Amino acid sequence: MVLRLHNTLTRDKVDFAPLDPKNVRMYVCGPTVYDYAHIGNARPAIVFDVLFRLLRHSYGDAHVTFVRNITDVDDKINARAAEEKISIADLTTRTAAQYQADVQALGCLPPTHEPRATHYIGQMIAMVERLVASGHAYAAQGHVLFDVESKSDYGKLSRRSINEMLAGARVEVAPYKKNTMDFVLWKPSDADIPGWESPWGRGRPGWHLECSAMSESLLGETFDIHGGGIDLQFPHHENEIAQSECAHGGHPFAKVWMHNGFLQVEGEKMSKSLGNFFTIRELLDDWPGEVLRLNMLRTHYRQPIDWTAHSLKESWKILERWYDDAGAMASPRLGEKFLAALADDLNTPQALAELHQETPEAVAGGLSLLGFSVMSESIAAKPELDATSINHAIAARTAARAAKDFKESDRIRDELLAKGIVLKDGAGGTTWEVKR
Ligand code: AMP
Ligand code: ZN
Repeated sequence: MVLRLHNTLTRDKVDFAPLDPKNVRMYVCGPTVYDYAHIGNARPAIVFDVLFRLLRHSYGDAHVTFVRNITDVDDKINARAAEEKISIADLTTRTAAQYQADVQALGCLPPTHEPRATHYIGQMIAMVERLVASGHAYAAQGHVLFDVESKSDYGKLSRRSINEMLAGARVEVAPYKKNTMDFVLWKPSDADIPGWESPWGRGRPGWHLECSAMSESLLGETFDIHGGGIDLQFPHHENEIAQSECAHGGHPFAKVWMHNGFLQVEGEKMSKSLGNFFTIRELLDDWPGEVLRLNMLRTHYRQPIDWTAHSLKESWKILERWYDDAGAMASPRLGEKFLAALADDLNTPQALAELHQETPEAVAGGLSLLGFSVMSESIAAKPELDATSINHAIAARTAARAAKDFKESDRIRDELLAKGIVLKDGAGGTTWEVKR
C-alpha cells in the first residue's frame, strides 16, 4: 500500500516516505483548555486519529509516535479562571480531562504523548535564547519578538509575502516591533497571571512557541507530519516553521503539512449567538460517539463539512446496518479497494462507499481500522428511537410525574429501558444514555 498525502506546503499529493520507518512521527496542534470542546474541535481529533491508525497499520503500532499537545497557558485561560474564581491549574486540569474523555468517546486513541505546554517552559526559553543569539529575534520592553525579515522564506506555507500579510491580517501594531508582522515569542506577565523567570524578566511564552518547543523535545528537529485545522495555517503554523527552522540552523521542520477543512452547522458558521453551537459533550447526550465519528468521516477531511441533524440520522442508520451485518464476524479482513481509498489522502467517503459493496468480514475489518468497535452494543438503540423520539418520551414522562401519574411515568421509563435506553433524573432534568 502506497500512502499518498496532500501536503499544504507543496499544494499537491505526495507519496509518503517516512524519515525513519521504525519511528514515524506526527504532531497535531491540540486544544487550548478553558471550556468544553465543540464539535469543530473534534474534527482534527478524529481525522488525525484515523491517520494515526492507518500509520500504525502500515508501520506497526510500536513504530509510530503521535504527539498532540494541550495548551494550558493562554490569555483565554487566565480570563476564564478569573471569571470562575478558580485557580488556573484547577481550570486546565478539569477541561483537559473533559477533552480527553470526549475524544475517547468519539473513538480516538490516546496519542503517544500528550504534553502540556507548562511542562516545557525551560525548553521554550532555551529556544528563544538560541533565536536571539542567531539574530532571528530581539528583546524589547520585556517582550521578545521574532524578526520576520530575518527569514527570507517567511510565508512559504501560506504563500503570502510580508506585504500581503500586512494588508490582510489583523495584527497588533506595537511600538516595540521592528516590523508589524514580527510576532511574540515571550511576553511579560503581571504578578496576578502565570509567569516564569527568564533572561527577559518574569513572563510567559507566545502560543506559537509552545508547539515548536514541544515538537522539538518529543519528535526532534525534523519530523514527518504536522497537522491541524485550516485556520491554523496562518499565522500559527507559519510561525512554528519560522521559529523551528531558525532555531535549528535552517534544518527543515515538518515534511508534510496537513490541514482539515472547517465544520459548519446546518449551513452556517457555528456560533453561540446563532444558537447552533454544539459541544461534543452535548452531542454525546443525544448520539452515540460512533455515530458522530461516522458522520465526520463521511466527508473528505479537506472539504468543508456541513453538520446536520439529517446526516446524523443517516449515519446512525448506516452504522446500525453495518453493525448488524458485521458484529458477529469472527475473522475480519481488509478489502483492497477500501484500503486503497484510505491510502489516497485519507479518502474516507470513498473508503466507506467501498464498504457498502463488501462482505461482512471486510465491513468488520474496515470499520475496526477506522476506529469503530464493531462488537459494541452502544448503537443498539433502534432507529425509531432517535434522540427526538426519546426526548418526546422523556417530556411525556415528566408531564406524567408532574401530574403524579406514577404508573404512567414508570411505564414510559420501563418501555425505554426495554429498548436499551436508561433514564437518569438529576437536578437539571432527565437525561438518557444507551445501556452498556
Ligand atoms: P483551538 O482550541 O481553537 O485552537 O482549536 C483546536 C483545533 O480545532 C485546531 O486544530 C483548530 O483548527 C480546530 N478547529 C476549530 N474550529 C474548527 C471548526 N469549526 N472546524 C474544524 N476544525 C476546527
Ligand atoms: Zn501548534
